[in-house]
Amino acid sequence: ALEVRDLSKSFALRGTKSVVRAVQDVSFSVPRGQTLALVGESGSGKSTITRLVLGLERPDRGQVLCDGVAVVGAYARSGWTAHREVLRTLKGFRRRAGLVYQNPYASLDPSFSVFELIAEPLRAVGVPQADIDSRVPELLDAVGLSRDFTQRRPRALSGGQRQRVAIARALAFDPEILILDEPTSALDVSVQKQILDLLVTLQEERGLTYLFVTHDLAVVRGFAHRVVVMSAGEAVEEGDTRAVFEQPQHHYTRELLASRT
Ligand code: ATP
Ligand code: MG
Repeated sequence: ALEVRDLSKSFALRGTKSVVRAVQDVSFSVPRGQTLALVGESGSGKSTITRLVLGLERPDRGQVLCDGVAVVGAYARSGWTAHREVLRTLKGFRRRAGLVYQNPYASLDPSFSVFELIAEPLRAVGVPQADIDSRVPELLDAVGLSRDFTQRRPRALSGGQRQRVAIARALAFDPEILILDEPTSALDVSVQKQILDLLVTLQEERGLTYLFVTHDLAVVRGFAHRVVVMSAGEAVEEGDTRAVFEQPQHHYTRELLASRT
């Protein structure tokens, strides 16, 4: 399971005395093989949580645990030995967790071919070329792209195809967890559906655990097992997806549901 415990993060705004409380005491856990959706409007702290979970940002307080082992945060309390230990664990964890962003055009280097984009993370850790040559086509198959795509650049791909490449890249280390930050938000509805179907298939085949970030509550129904509703840095509601839709407890969740078109 992926577990987030009492996570908090503030940002000091440069040149001012104001502080943005981006994430405040957020806790949740995602059982292995399941999907938890983080839902909330722009600025509610969703992306900050994904960055904290991946150790790209250091939390002010709180912890991230993977299968009960602290991967982020614990060192704030337990000194240097623990710090070193957590960093070692975090390094391992980063390989066990892949990240997919909203806008694959921004995160995919336009000068790289599809092959290079998927090969790059493997090459960066010294995977031998022969293994890369066999692994890349496997990953393309897994995301439903034919091998004809290997020499194309991102510019020559549709939005949905780019997102498939981004997912293939995130799967390079065969992770247990995928962190998906608005992976379908830039896509039109029919392509959104294709990508969600692909994610469901990958989850079933590989037992993947998803932390799925979206501002769009409609996407979550029928896809996520659990939902956490974020508002101004706080988790205002957490529950089973069905319960959240049918019996929302918090007025903000009711507003979100009412504003859906
Ligand atoms: P969106 O749906 O627009 O992506 P979000 O829910 O992902 O929004 P975050 O990106 O987590 O929101 O931002 C939460 C708050 O923290 C915002 O008010 C944002 O301006 C602020 N914030 C995030 N990163 C920084 C930073 N590096 N420095 C200062 N403020 C930041
Ligand atoms: Mg965001």
